[in-house]
Amino acid sequence: TDLYLNIRSVSKYFGELAAVRDVSLQVKKGEVISIIGPSGSGKSTLLRCINQLEIIDSGEIAIEDDVIIASDADGQRIRLPERQVRRGLKKLGMVFQHFNLFPHKSVLGNLIEAPMMVNKMRRNEIEPYARELLSKVGLADKADAYPNRLSGGQKQRVAIARALAMRPDVLLCDEPTSALDPELVGEVLSVLRQLANEDMTMLVVTHEMGFARDVCDRVVFMDQGQIIEDADPEKLFSNP
Ligand code: ADP
Ligand code: ADP
Repeated sequence: TDLYLNIRSVSKYFGELAAVRDVSLQVKKGEVISIIGPSGSGKSTLLRCINQLEIIDSGEIAIEDDVIIASDADGQRIRLPERQVRRGLKKLGMVFQHFNLFPHKSVLGNLIEAPMMVNKMRRNEIEPYARELLSKVGLADKADAYPNRLSGGQKQRVAIARALAMRPDVLLCDEPTSALDPELVGEVLSVLRQLANEDMTMLVVTHEMGFARDVCDRVVFMDQGQIIEDADPEKLFSNP
């Protein structure tokens, strides 16, 4: 199957508020999808539901063949094998708006911490692989620097490298450039563009319409917790 992510009728409530309401979305291997829409429309919550930073109230999420969370017709959680859930979640990488780097660890340290262990890489493979990822995001010379000495754009590129260290099949990016000064947005978008060219499967919550138009295969527009439109960017942006 070339279906990587299958989100079926997912809802997430905060009290009375349906932050995500009956959302279904299928993502194929290699697809790059931007999620756009007004503030408060549920974009971030949807991403957080996928990697279980939020627990959904109903629906089902599967990563390849691994269902990671599901509820029955009455909305009751179905108990799933723990190994299956872990195997599914390991296929996801996440990049946050505010980087979430470990401040007391060097750039290299941020990469070779826990994430690498997940892959059960050999000890002597870990550091070379981490350095390779830093080269990939253009930060080979910052391996020994600490996060507080980096610009926002550099921090976010470290965060992307760290997410990649887990060898994810799908990269979830939650407004990866929204916390950056305008002049630093481009360097982060160009790393994401490069990943897209390498056929990484990505879901990117963004306000960068140029990125949505030029890099993404599909643009999903959310409003009030629902997907209002799921379109080819050329079609979406050609309408006045
Ligand atoms: P977006 O990413 O599109 O800006 P969010 O997913 O952050 O939207 O938020 C969707 C809605 O859910 C908003 O009304 C927001 O206030 C609400 N919300 C998000 N997180 C929480 C939370 N932890 N507790 C209560 N309400 C929340
Ligand atoms: P955002 O920048 O998207 O608003 P937050 O800073 O609110 O994200 O963090 C959201 C949650 O994710 C926090 O509870 C945090 O502990 C958790 N978190 C931080 N880093 C990671 C990570 N690499 N993987 C999974 N969860 C994380």
